[in-house]
Amino acid sequence: TKHFPVRRRGRAALTGPRRAVQAVDDVTLTLRRGRVTALVGESGSGKSTVARLLAGLYPRTGGDIRLHGETVNVKHGKAFRAYARRVQMIFQDPFASLNPVHTVRYHLTRALKIHGRAGDDLEKSLHDLLSRVQLTPPERYIDKFPHELSGGQRQRVAIARALGADPEALLADEPVSMLDVSIRLGVLNLLRDLKERLHLAILYITHDIASARYFADETMVMYAGRMVEGGDSETITQNPAHPYTRLLIESAPDPDRLTTGADPAEVPAERGAGEPPSLIDPPSGCRFHPRCPVAMERCKTDLPPRFEVDDAPGHWAACWLYDGAAR
Ligand code: SF4
Ligand code: MG
Repeated sequence: TKHFPVRRRGRAALTGPRRAVQAVDDVTLTLRRGRVTALVGESGSGKSTVARLLAGLYPRTGGDIRLHGETVNVKHGKAFRAYARRVQMIFQDPFASLNPVHTVRYHLTRALKIHGRAGDDLEKSLHDLLSRVQLTPPERYIDKFPHELSGGQRQRVAIARALGADPEALLADEPVSMLDVSIRLGVLNLLRDLKERLHLAILYITHDIASARYFADETMVMYAGRMVEGGDSETITQNPAHPYTRLLIESAPDPDRLTTGADPAEVPAERGAGEPPSLIDPPSGCRFHPRCPVAMERCKTDLPPRFEVDDAPGHWAACWLYDGAAR
């Protein structure tokens, strides 16, 4: 859980109620090695905040992080650094995440040194990293500056840098959404290949549910800071249970296309479905009820827990429609 306090000015700061943006509320997910888990939702649904919480970049408001069953003490410097090394983040904009005044060599050397992996033969370690991300021959790329590389090559350097830590998990926040459509597939295929060869757990954050179907083993859907549905990607995309997931799939320009771009939140007037709610005063009960075409009376007041959807093992939806007890 992550709530960001809202600063108020003037008298309201002294007398008004304390308010917070409830950016992430009671989200639970499990990453496993050798699997890609997609976290899908519109802009502002809280998915990037989940990645930042997992990376320890934000303090949590509640909840905890466990690695191999052990709670990670994020306040303890040494324990946290050991955890942070194993969980590396890849950002949306590879240009912003690489320092423009430094070469590929500098970025990768620094990552290896920070994580104590520079070894006796640094040159070989650097070449290995570049080969891992298919920037070959390595000599062609190692002394380049970020602006001398294409967007896709820069993202590969960012991935190589993450691999420099020898991580167990990659948290990839919209890793291809700023790249040309023509090269997105190549980067996703690279990540999938790394997942298999290095037995990585990958969290794949995207607004594009079609790419989740292609790339992820498992898909979780977020709406307004909460998780609303989860299960294997094929089930979620072919047989969505939650009314919001259905809307997300219907409003995608073409559910079978791969990563053509537009963020659903930027698609105008999507079937009259309205806007995502403010997270300062999120709707009571089910947060989706003001937009839900099949909302019932209880949805306005009662927060739905996760219910099993019985079409596939592990498929669940946080929606009263699946309340077995009521049926
Ligand atoms: Fe719609 Fe109610 Fe299900 Fe929420 S709980 S998605 S409002 S039917
Ligand atoms: Mg984001």
